[in-house]
Amino acid sequence: MSAENTSPSPSAPAPSDFIRDIVAQHVAEQRYAKIVTRFPPEPNGYLHIGHAKSICLNFGIARENNGRCNLRFDDTNPVKEDVEYVDSITTDVKWLIDGWADHCLGFKAKGTHPAATPFNGKPDFYLPPVADAKSPDAEAFFASDYFEPLYLYAVELIKRGKAYVCDLTPKETDEYRGAPDKPGKESPYRNRSIAENLDLFQRMRAGEFPDGARTLRAKIDMASPNVWLRDPLLYRIRHVDHHHAGSGWCIYPLYDYAHCLSDYLEGITHSICTLEFDVHRALYDWILEALDLPRPLPHQYEFAKLNLAYTLVSKRKLLKLVEEKIVTAWDDPRMPTISGLRRRGIPAPALREFVTSVGVTKFDSLTEAAVFENVVRNYLNGAAQRRLAVLKPVKIVLTNIPAGEEVACEAVNNPQDEQPTTRRIALTREVFIESDDFAEVPPPKYFRLKPGGEVRLKYACIIKLDEIVKDASGAISELRCTADLTTRKGEPNADKKVKGTIHWVSATKCVEAEVRLYDRLFTVPEPAAEEDFLKVVNPKSLEVVTAKLEPSLAGATLADRFQFERLGYFALDPKESQPGKPVFNRTITLKDTWAK
Ligand code: ATP
Ligand code: MG
Repeated sequence: MSAENTSPSPSAPAPSDFIRDIVAQHVAEQRYAKIVTRFPPEPNGYLHIGHAKSICLNFGIARENNGRCNLRFDDTNPVKEDVEYVDSITTDVKWLIDGWADHCLGFKAKGTHPAATPFNGKPDFYLPPVADAKSPDAEAFFASDYFEPLYLYAVELIKRGKAYVCDLTPKETDEYRGAPDKPGKESPYRNRSIAENLDLFQRMRAGEFPDGARTLRAKIDMASPNVWLRDPLLYRIRHVDHHHAGSGWCIYPLYDYAHCLSDYLEGITHSICTLEFDVHRALYDWILEALDLPRPLPHQYEFAKLNLAYTLVSKRKLLKLVEEKIVTAWDDPRMPTISGLRRRGIPAPALREFVTSVGVTKFDSLTEAAVFENVVRNYLNGAAQRRLAVLKPVKIVLTNIPAGEEVACEAVNNPQDEQPTTRRIALTREVFIESDDFAEVPPPKYFRLKPGGEVRLKYACIIKLDEIVKDASGAISELRCTADLTTRKGEPNADKKVKGTIHWVSATKCVEAEVRLYDRLFTVPEPAAEEDFLKVVNPKSLEVVTAKLEPSLAGATLADRFQFERLGYFALDPKESQPGKPVFNRTITLKDTWAK
């Protein structure tokens, strides 16, 4: 396969890793009719950059093998979940894979559930065919759609003597479980008869018992060195409605029980998850094998989570930032959520390239922030149009240009293009430059504007500072300069060299915009390692300025990406920008500044 066919962006090499090697082996052996993976978020928060890695791995493998990847909500805990999260997750996944792997997206027709179909005399269920993900009727898969088959599988486990109803309290259950170095103790309810278990489980479902009164547990081995095999809970009683399944249930399956069977029901071949599930794998396999199921079983494979420096990758902690109003919302552009990154202006291909380029391993590590930033910069360097903008303006008066006159200049749109195009910008008597680009008392080797000094206005000409005008309070009101128009492109002194080149905009023709400048949200590389991560929040993570922009930026659209020369990459804020009232976010700074 060519790199272009398999990689998240045309420039990246085709990825290879231990999971892809396993899949390739299975494809070579023709072990499965089709490779089917899934991305299984719990709808209890917004997706973050770590999830982007899992999405690109699962959809990437499906894409490279003409397979399918189901978006499935692992929604078995109604207490913490919400439809707001279902909607945001669906939007984020679609955005991230759009145009790259959207054809692999497994969706189902709304409201359809697995049909009970005995298979070779064994209990089994079939999912309805996968729907066209683009049809308005299509929706993601939900583990809660399988509550009925999961219940029937639990009944089957009881009938096989492999599950029992237990009356220990949650506290007692914990105590009986023991610890890795201490064997557990068997529950006194462990040897209930099958008939009694069937009766009690049916009555649990019917709502006869209060929350916490009883549980259904797998009957495995209380002395197992793997504590997850010490008669793990399969069901608990919770008298609450479910955001997707409605009010029909008061018993809810636990993650380990629901996950492997949901994978099975959907015909998943490779169930890929993060390392913390390694110890759960024995239980995943035990449940599927205990049921003696007729179709091929899914298998679980684990990889190390993505951890990014200066960033939190935990929904619980990110929720805290929202609740404590450290950020404005889940999609605040400082958040490492997919929606925050999108709002900040990070293009989906750049995010895909980053999460793929960090590789897939079995070892926990911390990825440097610079790795992410460089991928984004490289992408935007090719994709972004160059424009002139001044964030913190100081006014220049070019005394030898008459008011009302426009000196036409030509600016390059993107020097990275094979055949760069240009646009016209007008030099006028009054222009703004960055206040940083002027020093009344310059430090040594200061090559920007200073008393008596010369500097080039990019795309225009060299100017010389003649006079500093201050107001009554002593603040600078304007800098009066002379423009040497013979140093413009095509003029006799065009080649004249000065050491500094600065950006500018016409003061009479510019447009104003709110511009939001972001810094890291945390002051330490590993905020998650702090006892209280709220104590290491960067108080200067957001600065808002009223900037002056070259007039062409009045026509910017949400899809546009810009490099404001010398200042970084910028994009319109999709949430708060309005026609005639633009709001720009700085997506990322530039690594090198060409004038300093
Ligand atoms: P969080 O810890 O943020 O709450 P989670 O693992 O509980 O995350 P899930 O909704 O269960 O969130 O995650 C969906 C999938 O994304 C899982 O398969 C999980 O393993 C994977 N995932 C979660 N965090 C990361 C990460 N940092 N890097 C890679 N994959 C991740
Ligand atoms: Mg989880």
